[in-house]
Amino acid sequence: METNFYLPSTLEQFHQQFPTEEACIDYFFSTKWPSGFSCPHCGHPHAYITSTRRLPLYECLQCHHQTSLTAGTIMAGSRTSLHKWLTAIFLISRTDTGTNAVALSKIISVTYKTAWLILHKIRHAISTADRGTLLSGIVQVNSAVYGKPYNPYFRNHPQEHYLLAGSSLDIHGDPSYFKLKLVPKIHIKEKLFQRSAALDFTQQHIESHTSSIEFVTGRFSSKRFRALIAFALQAGKSINKNFHGIGQKYLQHYLDEFCFKVNLTLREAPIFQHLAHLCTASNAKLSFFNPQNMPICA
Ligand SMILES: [Zn+2]
Repeated sequence: METNFYLPSTLEQFHQQFPTEEACIDYFFSTKWPSGFSCPHCGHPHAYITSTRRLPLYECLQCHHQTSLTAGTIMAGSRTSLHKWLTAIFLISRTDTGTNAVALSKIISVTYKTAWLILHKIRHAISTADRGTLLSGIVQVNSAVYGKPYNPYFRNHPQEHYLLAGSSLDIHGDPSYFKLKLVPKIHIKEKLFQRSAALDFTQQHIESHTSSIEFVTGRFSSKRFRALIAFALQAGKSINKNFHGIGQKYLQHYLDEFCFKVNLTLREAPIFQHLAHLCTASNAKLSFFNPQNMPICA
């Protein structure tokens, strides 16, 4: 199976490269099984393929387990064609603009509700994979704010969302993986980050054997990590530009999407290919940068 796909950069190129449902099926096969078919039940490398259905069905020659490209993935049970799914993956992969449900619904001719659901599921895969990837090595974390800029008043502004921006540093001291996480309001008191905010972040997002962790949550601390503050600011600007500002409910998904693109760009990994891989990976196995999960880069 061909795995070394040239990656499209415009929608026109995308349509040329993936003109049919069959082309998308082939592509998803290569992102799901970069080394060829592998039975999810027993690992056997050979299957009997039934192609008379809307999507091919693969029956393991050893244990007779039946699977498909979408079984156990975020696309499971969807009646939307794989061509439309891959178009959405392409649009969300773009680093300059991304996409939103209004634009997507027009481009792939589905209802707003369907477009919203597709994007929501893709972002869910990104968020799940990020949760499975912990910061490690030398870790720096700084407080930040999304929404209205800091106001001088004592009370929180309702559109002010408190964040912790963290990164792992490589041996040169440069960030190699970013995370931006919303801080639950219980960890904020009178605009100040409580110690529980750092504890919570450490538990959820940092490897337990990490050699060095530095937290700065004081707004005017001379030790603050300016690069992390700038990163959070850049994320906020990008989200506001593409989505015209959003509420608390889905903000974490948008923050994760922003970090996902930056993290892959740092590693010079192709975003489109990686995202297609995440969307065909089993929901239970989602994580980034697991060498076994990493598709072959074009
Ligand atoms: Zn099997």
